[in-house]
Amino acid sequence: MRDTITITLIANTGVLVEYGDVGMLVDGIHHEPGHVFSKVCKKDLLHMRLGTDVFEHLDYLLFSHEHPDHFSPGFVERHLQFRSVQGIFLPDPAHGSPSLKFLANQIQAQAISHRILDLQPGEAAQFPLVDDLTVTAIGAPHMGPQYAAVKHHCFLLTIAGKHLLFTGDADHIPEYFVPALNGINPDVVFVNPLFYHHANGRKIINEIFRPRTVVIYHMPFAKDDTTQLSHVVERDIKRYGQNGIQPLIFSQEKQRLYLRG
Ligand SMILES: [Zn+2]
Repeated sequence: MRDTITITLIANTGVLVEYGDVGMLVDGIHHEPGHVFSKVCKKDLLHMRLGTDVFEHLDYLLFSHEHPDHFSPGFVERHLQFRSVQGIFLPDPAHGSPSLKFLANQIQAQAISHRILDLQPGEAAQFPLVDDLTVTAIGAPHMGPQYAAVKHHCFLLTIAGKHLLFTGDADHIPEYFVPALNGINPDVVFVNPLFYHHANGRKIINEIFRPRTVVIYHMPFAKDDTTQLSHVVERDIKRYGQNGIQPLIFSQEKQRLYLRG
């Protein structure tokens, strides 16, 4: 259906957004150890290369930052050996790992359309992709002082007049979101559990974003939830939920949200 936006959870903050026959994968190719969050499984990485299962439409790849629970450049490079894409949004390799630099070289060599992102906090840049579909990248620092040097961007997808904001691991600093959003109230906002848990994060959700739906993502699947994070989030929703903003936990494999025009 042309007027339905389908959002499918792949793993962690990995989300596939489809509209018509266009698919955009945000933070959706990662499979490295060293963290407690759920990885994109090997089977899905294969499905992506083959265009099977939920991955028939995989036209744009967007990455918020180079952390192993969001973006594995080596696996993206491998993906591109099997299946090309219309465009890639990635953080500036000048600040990244050797494998990100290698990926950027390969993208260039294969002449794949791409955008290197290096925006300052609060800065926004718009990229119209196709009819009815625009990506706005927003510079936003990563949470936690230990990650201050990590280049991080949020993505606002504007699809047929609907706005979907993916905040990734952005810090909850209102001063950066106000100018970047420029008065837009996203219909759906995706935030991680720490953003939702922190009073400043909730203030941004309730007073700046004011979405119809807030999705808490960056959740481990039940089988990987060693820290009982889902209980913390459920408790936070009970305690802090606001009238008029529907909360949704995105934590089940291939969980879907449909937005109808
Ligand atoms: Zn991160």
